[in-house]
Amino acid sequence: MNKHLYNSIFYTKNRLMKPQLIRDIVIAWKNQYLPAEELRDIRVKKLSKLLHHAYENCPFYREKFDKAGFHPDNFRELKDIEKIPLLSKSEIRDNLDTITASNLPTSRRDVVNTGGTTGIPMKLYRDEAAKDLMTAMYLRTTKMYGCSVGSKTAWIWGLKKENEYLDFRNHDFKSQHIKNTSWYNGFDMNDKSMREFAAFSFKFKPELMISYVSSLFEYAHFLKQNRIKFYPLTAIWLTAEPVEAIQRQLIEEVFQCPTYSQYGSSEILHIATECNAHKGLHIHADSRYVEILDAEGKSLGPDEPGYIVVTDLENFIMPFIRYKNDDISSFLMDECSCGSKFPKLNPVMGRVYNVFKLKSGKQIYGHMFSRKLFDLVDEIQCFQVHQTAHESITISIVPGIIEDRGKFISELTGYFTYYTGNEVEYTFRFVDDIPREKSGKLMYTKSDIK
Ligand SMILES: [Zn+2]
Repeated sequence: MNKHLYNSIFYTKNRLMKPQLIRDIVIAWKNQYLPAEELRDIRVKKLSKLLHHAYENCPFYREKFDKAGFHPDNFRELKDIEKIPLLSKSEIRDNLDTITASNLPTSRRDVVNTGGTTGIPMKLYRDEAAKDLMTAMYLRTTKMYGCSVGSKTAWIWGLKKENEYLDFRNHDFKSQHIKNTSWYNGFDMNDKSMREFAAFSFKFKPELMISYVSSLFEYAHFLKQNRIKFYPLTAIWLTAEPVEAIQRQLIEEVFQCPTYSQYGSSEILHIATECNAHKGLHIHADSRYVEILDAEGKSLGPDEPGYIVVTDLENFIMPFIRYKNDDISSFLMDECSCGSKFPKLNPVMGRVYNVFKLKSGKQIYGHMFSRKLFDLVDEIQCFQVHQTAHESITISIVPGIIEDRGKFISELTGYFTYYTGNEVEYTFRFVDDIPREKSGKLMYTKSDIK
């Protein structure tokens, strides 16, 4: 459907049927430009409301707050939240019933099953009533990228079996012509379908593409190698994984448009997003409260990397209060040239599971491996570094052009041994494909050692 027609139908219909959504969109856009004090007042008010609600309606939180000697009536300023203990994944899994608000109808429960990045199966509820706010956040983000309501959007995403009909090859009329979206199943990428999707892009003419980083990097690699053109996009929204500079460079070169990194998790979507200044990610501060903490739970200042802890200010059906989600970043103090006053995060660097623990007690940050391997753009198409035991690391490589495999292996072993010492034995495997996790992500580095 023509974008302008889509746009006018969207606004006309929702002004009548869902005026709240239109108000949310307008307010969401304005909020990012509010002076710091006004933004702080909004956050204090929202947090206070959430804490009272959780205390009164979620037995799990009442017990937790009481144990910690915290009462929501004593919440005055943002940092008072630090008196509440952190919320872990396993607590959510083990207390689903008591963490869910007892006073709200079950119709507000949007059920999400996620394994997250840890592979721990977890069920959670998102607040149906907050859906309009999520739409507003999505539109705030895409507007920043130069797109608008109705912009045609191509997704490269892992489609579940029941959703495979959405794949572009199945010509779903509603998705392509009414909703202006097309999907390319990231679980079914091969040479043939990669060529077909590029050809399809010239018919569909997307403005925005949303993709996992690793899938798009792989795709960009393929297009470049085979000199295949893709329809020129306005923007690419990269998500689910940290973006390496080399990945961004290749993707921008092949698709000829800027990329924007977006940070969220399956538990809490829309946490932070990169703006057109491309310097850090703005936190969606009117809806998410983010803290950065060290291993002891102490709050950290700018540029001090630590664990990301998020409070979702909008999910009342199942409050996430001080949720520690295992990702790592730091605050970035910056008067952003884009004009947004929302606080910023430095790029989310890595995840806790990426730390490789050795017998000697040494901890190796997984990024050490990926940074080196990402540099070998001609030799490696895809890789995974997998620690299977304290002293065993297997490196699987989908090879590009490697002239001398023996030399290649010995140089890499030498490089990694410099960091890990001799206590690790490296095994190299040259493979055709690297399986993705259940979530659809490709984990570049993973460790079985807890
Ligand atoms: Zn900015």
